[in-house]
Amino acid sequence: MISNNMSEQKKGRIIRGIGGFYYVETDTGIITCRARGKLRMMGETPYVGDYVTVSINQDMTGYVLEISERKNVMIRPPIANIDMIAIVASKAPPVTDTYFIDRIAALAEYKGIEVCVVINKCDEDIGEELFEIYKNTNIKVFRLSAKNGDGVAEFKQHLSGKLSAFTGNSGVGKSTLINAIMPDAMLETGEINSKIGRGRHTTRQVEILKLSENTWIADTPGFSAFDIAAKDEIKPEDLENMFPDFSEYISECKFIGCSHIKDSECAVIEAVENGNIQESRYESYKKMYSELEKIPKYK
Ligand code: ZN
Repeated sequence: MISNNMSEQKKGRIIRGIGGFYYVETDTGIITCRARGKLRMMGETPYVGDYVTVSINQDMTGYVLEISERKNVMIRPPIANIDMIAIVASKAPPVTDTYFIDRIAALAEYKGIEVCVVINKCDEDIGEELFEIYKNTNIKVFRLSAKNGDGVAEFKQHLSGKLSAFTGNSGVGKSTLINAIMPDAMLETGEINSKIGRGRHTTRQVEILKLSENTWIADTPGFSAFDIAAKDEIKPEDLENMFPDFSEYISECKFIGCSHIKDSECAVIEAVENGNIQESRYESYKKMYSELEKIPKYK
């Protein structure tokens, strides 16, 4: 008699989650899993990007038994273990607002995640102004055209060995860029789709796509909506450390605990006036500061 209880354990990574099912990539293929009851009882929710231990049945279904320790986690959208956030921007219409970039860059800094700005549509507008702002902010900036392929190879090299989450304002060409980066991965994506009956471009779920061994891309349609404060309990006074371009000045302010908003003898404000801090960065700082101040504090 064949035992139905025989199952094998394996390590893998969750590449997609939908309706209580987790699709776990292992070296023997993609296993459709549910979370083990014990995990749920402990209040642990598996996230896309998690490294997990699964039990595998003979029919390639299984259970997520254990979630490996995460290096970071985003709540909206839910995704774990991000190595880099690539903010896709454009100076051609629809023009990206620097505030959009700066909020995400600040949150990434708070979480200790590398960030880069990718100026797309350079065939239409070279994006000189955006390029100068972020070059002077020590954020890595790429200029490319997903449409004609210029600059894509250099950016692609920078993705190597990372899980990169792509975000961008609507119409900026994020999907075109992902397709330009990984045309060879379409086949694998197609395989996944036929198994679970879903078209890649209709999804609103987070999923990660494998570019090569150890290199992943997360297409995160909802990333722009991330809630910077509520879930992460960011306080206004945390904000100065989320703008790395301010760091060499904050210790020079006359008053300890200077908010860099209107205090006298503020070295940050002075640096903005001298052109050492980009004005748009400081504007974003002020705007975020006032947003954070408005969040009710529960004590
Ligand atoms: Zn100050």
